[in-house]
Amino acid sequence: MDNPEDGRILRHMMVEHDILIVGGGLNGPALALALAQAGHSVCVIDALNEKVRKNAAFDGRSYALALASQRLLAAIGVWDKVADKAQPMLEIKVTDGHAGDGPSPFFMHFDHAEIEEGPMGYLVEDRHLRRAFLDTMAEVDGITQLDGKTVVAQTVNQGGVTVTLDDGTTLTGKVLVGCDGRRSGTAERAGIKRTGWAYGQTALVCAIAHDLPHHGIAHQFFMPPGPLAILPLTGNRSSIVWSERTDVAEQINALDDQAYLQVLRPRFGDFLGEIRLEGQRFTYPLDLTIANSFVADRLALVGDAAHGMHPIAGQGLNAGLRDVGALAETLVLAARRGEDIGSQLVLERYQQWRRFDTATLAMATDVFNRLFSNDNPLLRLGRDIGMGVVGAVPRLRRNFVREAAGLTGDLPKLLQGRPI
Ligand SMILES: Cc1cc2nc3c(=O)[nH]c(=O)nc-3n(C[C@H](O)[C@H](O)[C@H](O)COP(=O)(O)OP(=O)(O)OC[C@H]3O[C@@H](n4cnc5c(N)ncnc54)[C@H](O)[C@@H]3O)c2cc1C
Repeated sequence: MDNPEDGRILRHMMVEHDILIVGGGLNGPALALALAQAGHSVCVIDALNEKVRKNAAFDGRSYALALASQRLLAAIGVWDKVADKAQPMLEIKVTDGHAGDGPSPFFMHFDHAEIEEGPMGYLVEDRHLRRAFLDTMAEVDGITQLDGKTVVAQTVNQGGVTVTLDDGTTLTGKVLVGCDGRRSGTAERAGIKRTGWAYGQTALVCAIAHDLPHHGIAHQFFMPPGPLAILPLTGNRSSIVWSERTDVAEQINALDDQAYLQVLRPRFGDFLGEIRLEGQRFTYPLDLTIANSFVADRLALVGDAAHGMHPIAGQGLNAGLRDVGALAETLVLAARRGEDIGSQLVLERYQQWRRFDTATLAMATDVFNRLFSNDNPLLRLGRDIGMGVVGAVPRLRRNFVREAAGLTGDLPKLLQGRPI
């Protein structure tokens, strides 16, 4: 960011909002709600207008939300709007194999009955979650939503930060939060570099209707080109996240619906009976991108802007919602103590809380993807033995279930379902 200090004595600027949030995707609205409900004035700016984001065909993803993320959504008033459309995730089955071979004899099976808290999490479709965020923001005092406006510049001033929109409007706040996704312009304009690489894989995503019930079981099949996740949705429906080498994914995606299903069937198997496509098909190129710092002068990064990771473990949004809980708690407590919420001291607390954890998680998804997305017989043997051990030792299994439910580590209050 530019600092216009030029030797003159600068007065503290008058700010219009406590917090400016760039990005009204998923993490931006969650943060806005957490902060506004604690009495802060927030402005959320998104380049896309609300009508586009509320369109049911805008994004085909369904999110495996950990129990802790569900608690945050309940605490900020969003859960009631999606609860009847959310599918509890009761079990996870992980297998290793080839398309058409069926699962290998080595597999891991995790059951929510191993923990007392309830389901490990819930599957929620983007079309419901995004709309619920936007509708809840409209009901809460203290949030200004600016849609169809792109942030093109940002400047740190004495006591505040100014952003400029593409129509020339300027807005001021005490702190700027970049929730603007994997290619965060907010981070780039602040001079924050990123570490990462493309995977050469693309995720094919769609909803599938099937004849037999899924019983709330999520499946992860590891196959040499990449993992296939089959995630239970309400009714006899599942969402798939099917990773293939990008050139192969492009060929598959160019097929008509029947030919696409023909390629999917041997990978999917017949355990859910006959399968049909439901709705549109989507593709997402996969990469790893971690910001080298989560904070800068009067700036914090949250969600994919801080850490975009492989969807292999379905953890990207869950990690973002942990950032939301941690940053909201850090800023709210600092304000209560009379501290400047944009000061380096305060923002550094957020970075200390989240950066190491998230970088470790992102790297773990990277290692997992490399370990499982190949056909090396030695690696296969090693990972099958590993899966057999984890699946057979009750304490390891229980730890995994608690991890999947997001109940481990230093949990922000909102993720414990408690107000800040
Ligand atoms: C195939 C796939 C499956 C996944 N499944 C799961 C899962 O099961 N569970 C899970 O936890 N996670 C999952 N994830 C990860 C999850 O989708 C992301 O972590 C999440 O969508 C990130 O949300 P975000 O709000 O941080 O960013 P985004 O959703 O990218 O939002 C960024 C917003 O910023 C706006 N913006 C950008 N630049 C500007 C600007 N200059 N001015 C104004 N606005 C701007 C954009 O318009 C956009 O609305 C998955 C990811 C993929 C690819």
